[in-house]
Amino acid sequence: MKKKHVEIWNRCLSVIKDNIPYQSFKTWFEPIVPVRLENNILTIQVPSQFFYEWLEEHYINLLKKTIKKELGQAGRLEYSIIMERSSYQNADPVTINYPTSNNKKAANKPVSMPLDINKGRNREIPNPFIIPGLKKLKVESQLVESYTFDNFIEGDCNRLARSAGWAVSENPGKTAFNPMLIYSQVGLGKTHLAHAIGLQVKQNYPEKIVLYVQTEQFINQYIDSVRNNNQNDFIHFYQMIDVLILDDIQFLAGKEKTQDVFFHIFNHLHQNNKQLILTSDKPPVELKGMEPRLLSRFKWGLAADLQSPDLETRIAILQKKLYSDGINMPEEVIEYLAYNITTNIREMEGALISILAQASLNKKSINLELAKQMIDKFVKNTTREISIDYIQKVVCDYFGITVDLMNSKTRKREIVQARQMAMFFSKKLTKNSLANIGIACGNKDHATVLHACRTVNNLLETDKQFKIHVDEIDKKLKF
Ligand code: ADP
Ligand code: MG
Repeated sequence: MKKKHVEIWNRCLSVIKDNIPYQSFKTWFEPIVPVRLENNILTIQVPSQFFYEWLEEHYINLLKKTIKKELGQAGRLEYSIIMERSSYQNADPVTINYPTSNNKKAANKPVSMPLDINKGRNREIPNPFIIPGLKKLKVESQLVESYTFDNFIEGDCNRLARSAGWAVSENPGKTAFNPMLIYSQVGLGKTHLAHAIGLQVKQNYPEKIVLYVQTEQFINQYIDSVRNNNQNDFIHFYQMIDVLILDDIQFLAGKEKTQDVFFHIFNHLHQNNKQLILTSDKPPVELKGMEPRLLSRFKWGLAADLQSPDLETRIAILQKKLYSDGINMPEEVIEYLAYNITTNIREMEGALISILAQASLNKKSINLELAKQMIDKFVKNTTREISIDYIQKVVCDYFGITVDLMNSKTRKREIVQARQMAMFFSKKLTKNSLANIGIACGNKDHATVLHACRTVNNLLETDKQFKIHVDEIDKKLKF
C-alpha cells in the first residue's frame, strides 16, 4: 500500500491537473515530491526558492482549495525547499509554513534562504553606524546567495575576470589585484561576479568582514552622516571592512565630497591589505567626473572587463538557470532565446521568465511560437536585432545543411549560394559591417560579402525559383 502522504498528494494532483493547462502542470507540479503527512500537515518538496515563490504567487488558491478538500479545514501545507548545491550555508532543506490567511506572510519563519535577488538588492543596509562596543563588528554582508561562482558560467567573455576574481577570493588583499575593478556594459554580470567573490571569501575566511554596497547607497549614507554630524562613524565603519565591494562606481562621478571620503577609506583599506572590489560601466580611462588621484588608484590593481557572451555561453547560462530553478523547457526555445538576445544577459533571463509567466498564466504551452511572440512583445526592440548566428541557422535549416558546412571552404554551388544568402540577409537585417559579416560567414573578406549581396540582388531579378527561396527565408527570419 502506498504511503498516506503520497496517496493524498496524488489525489491533490489529479484535481490540480484538471484545473490548469497541461504544460503548467508539467512545469510546476510534476517536479514536486510529497515528503510526509503529520498532524494534518502535508509537506511537499520543491526544487528551488524560485519555484516556491512561483507556486505561492500563481497557484495559492488552487492549492488551498485542494488541500482543504483532501485534509479538511484544518489541513495545512508546508514546503520544503531544496537549496542549491552552491548554497553551502544551508545544507538542509528549509521549511516554510503555510497557510495563514494572507499568503504573503507565509514565510513567517526567519529562515535563511537565498535572498530573492531583487529583494536583496533593494534591502536597506541596516544602520551601519551601530558599532557594538564589543570585540566583533557585526556587519550584514548584503550578499545575494545565489550569485555564486558556481552559478557564474565561464566563457571566453569573462575568463580573465572570473579567474582573477577567484584568485582574489582565495587571498583577499594579498594579490596584485587590489583594487579589482570589473567593468562592462549593463547586464553582463558585474554585480553577479562581485557577489561571487564576496561569497567565496566568506566561505574561505568566515571571520573576515565582507560588505557589498551599491555606490548610490554609499553616497546616501555619506550624505546622512554629514547631516547627522557623524562622518567619523561613517569612515570608521568602512575602515573596519576586510573586503569592500562597491558596485557601480560610475555614480561617484561629480560627487566630489563623497569621492574625497572614499579616497581616505580606500587608502586606509589598501594600506592595511584589505581588499577592494569595484565595478563600473566604463573602463577607468573613460570614467568622467572622477578625481585624478582616485582614478590613479583604480589603476593600481587589475581592471578586467566582461564581454558579451558567445552563443554557447548564453545557452549554458539559460540552462543553468532553468536547472537550478528545477524547470524544464524545450531545447529549441532555449536556443531561440540565446540566438536572439545577444547583448544583455539580464534581458535574456527576463525573456525566459516572461515566457514561463505567459505560458502559465494564459494557459499556453511553452513552445517556439510563444517564445517568438514574447520576444517581439516584451523584450525591448533594441535587443530584437536579428543576429548573424541566427540568420545562418535559419538559412542552413532551410537548405538542410549544417552551419559548419556552409562556412567551410567548399565551392559547391548550393553551398556557396546558401552562404551568399546568409551574407545578404546579414547585411540587410543587422547592423554589422561587411568585414564583420565576412568573418562570421567562413572568414571571408568584405569584398566577398559585397559580391554576395550583388549576386543575390541580381538573381532576385532574374531567377524565379531563387526569389521564392529568398522570400521564404525572409518570412522565417521575420516571423
Ligand atoms: P551587471 O551588474 O553587469 O549589470 P548583473 O551582474 O546584474 O549585470 O547580471 C545580469 C544577470 O545576468 C544576472 O541575473 C546574472 O546572474 C546573470 N549573469 C551574468 N553573467 C552570467 C554568467 N556568466 N553566468 C550566469 N549568469 C550570469
Ligand atoms: Mg550591476
